[in-house]
Amino acid sequence: MDRVPLVHASLGEQELAAVAEVFSSGWPAGQGPQGKALETELAERYGAAGAVALSNCGAALHLALLALGVQPGDEVIVADYTFPAPAHAVRYVGAVPVFADVRADTGTIDPLAVADLVGPRTVGVIAVDTVGLPADYEDLKLITDRHGLFLVEDAACAVGATYRGREAGALAPVACLSFHGRKGATSGEGGALLTADPALAAKARLQSSFGIQPIFDQAQIVGLPIPVFTEIGYNYKLSDIAAAILRVQLGRIGELLDRRCAVAAQYAELLADEELVTLPHVPPDRTHAWQTYMVKLDAGVDRAGVAADLRAQGIGCGHGTWACHLQPVYEAKQECPVSASLFQSHLAIPMHAELTAGQVERVVDTLRTALRAHSRP
Ligand SMILES: *Cc1c(COP(=O)(O)O)cnc(C)c1O
Repeated sequence: MDRVPLVHASLGEQELAAVAEVFSSGWPAGQGPQGKALETELAERYGAAGAVALSNCGAALHLALLALGVQPGDEVIVADYTFPAPAHAVRYVGAVPVFADVRADTGTIDPLAVADLVGPRTVGVIAVDTVGLPADYEDLKLITDRHGLFLVEDAACAVGATYRGREAGALAPVACLSFHGRKGATSGEGGALLTADPALAAKARLQSSFGIQPIFDQAQIVGLPIPVFTEIGYNYKLSDIAAAILRVQLGRIGELLDRRCAVAAQYAELLADEELVTLPHVPPDRTHAWQTYMVKLDAGVDRAGVAADLRAQGIGCGHGTWACHLQPVYEAKQECPVSASLFQSHLAIPMHAELTAGQVERVVDTLRTALRAHSRP
């Protein structure tokens, strides 16, 4: 049976060659020549004053909130329908995540919900480019500017997407990227913080490295400099091994994204007449990075039954992402009905850059059969 995995990381010979070079360079740890070159390339690509290479996007969100000065007891409004990294980061700094419901058509944070939730303790907003689709940044910026709040873009899934002609990752003054193995560009684990504020980047970089300047730089100085610890930091550095892989991946974003877009177009064409699913909606002012392809199942469809049939046929699938306010860890006493409904009715089907047209056809045929078998009239 031809197995069709839900996700697949496109890592190959070019990435292996880049790793081999790092092995012979003698500096596999973080903040070395590869890390520096990656930061320069990221800053250029995104037109950012500062780019900090980090071990993952969760670390980037944590450092962003620290650098923005979020204090215990502050409230930060976060998108509800997402992998819960933003709300976790808010909790890392002792602040309170306030969950904003999302647009029914896009799953991205609803600016009207955000405006309603702003209160005396609100300090900022974390918007998410939901599974690769950018949120409504112009509307969000109006709200955050009016109230003097910060705006962070969680672009973890959105490398290569655009909003009104601008790149995801450059849509807010601070943005966080993920290079986890399930994202569009990957080094296995990895992340980055991008910002228009060089001081914020410097602070985040220092805190990613135990609160001292890069050891690689220290080693280049003649004499015996003894680094001084001036603050408590973490170890959130990206290794130079991962940085080398990412430099190759960044060069391949266009090629990999074209493949994902072709898969999405084929799904849209083949499923256009399927009345038991609603296809993803991409507003005309933005483009999707297709980190995940989620269809919304009709209310009469038993999702678990459909998923079991797909998996029995060797086709990977999943629930998509999470309604954060329903996760017990937050003990949220809020309601986000749109997010809750998407959480119940979305089904993620295979999406990656190496799916063949034949595999996409098989996914669609199997899905159609499973939908008929598991729907009540
Ligand atoms: C994957 C993801 C993250 C976490 O990224 P890591 O690099 O695994 O820490 C954060 N936010 C969103 C929206 C994600 O999808």
